[in-house]
Amino acid sequence: MEFEILPVTRYAQNCSIVWCEKTSRAAVIDPGGDLSEILNFIELLELEPEVALITHGHFDHCGGAAQFAEMTGARIEGPHRGDEHVVARLEQMGERYGVPARTYVPARWLEHGDRIRFGEEELEVLHCPGHCQGHVAYFSRSRRQAFVGDILFRHTIGAWEHPDGNLPLLIHSIRSRLFTLGDDVGFVPGHGPTSTIGHERRENPFVGDEAFARWCARFPGSEDPALGHAPQA
Ligand SMILES: [Zn+2]
Ligand SMILES: [Zn+2]
Repeated sequence: MEFEILPVTRYAQNCSIVWCEKTSRAAVIDPGGDLSEILNFIELLELEPEVALITHGHFDHCGGAAQFAEMTGARIEGPHRGDEHVVARLEQMGERYGVPARTYVPARWLEHGDRIRFGEEELEVLHCPGHCQGHVAYFSRSRRQAFVGDILFRHTIGAWEHPDGNLPLLIHSIRSRLFTLGDDVGFVPGHGPTSTIGHERRENPFVGDEAFARWCARFPGSEDPALGHAPQA
């Protein structure tokens, strides 16, 4: 598996083009906009885009998905159905923030544990609510690489201060679903530089091991890995 990151839209959203070197079959994660750049890259490497994978319903991540699917014949999958109401508002939100966006109906709303295959590669779906209710991450277990959208960033975490956000749940998703993948796993966040799980466990001031120890001392029960919902702050 190879991948290339193309920052798209005025929000420099990291669209990742991921492909199987043996078959040239590709998945495009979060084609939020600037489709000409994405399509140029695909053409340059003679890739065959099979699927657009969406991490969550924000317009900078999926506003271009409908048009991308029309232009390439790729299907759209994701995110989790918890973001259906966000995807339904794509036009309005794009207009408000000055990014052309169109709503879509995915071929499949994804569930935790679903798999996506293209060529000889496979990505696993990790449901990680907290930034949005339906947010998912994509993980290549064989290549030790994750694509995590707006859940986790280098040295920070996703926004939660909006109606669909939930800070305890966001922290729980990161700790239980991303940090458990292994310290060696690299990840591409929705914006900004890449990092590794190990680096964030050591250095992340919001959700790293040290910060989390302080959080647990303040909100006992957070450390329970079986917790569906972290305690309300
Ligand atoms: Zn977002
Ligand atoms: Zn974003």
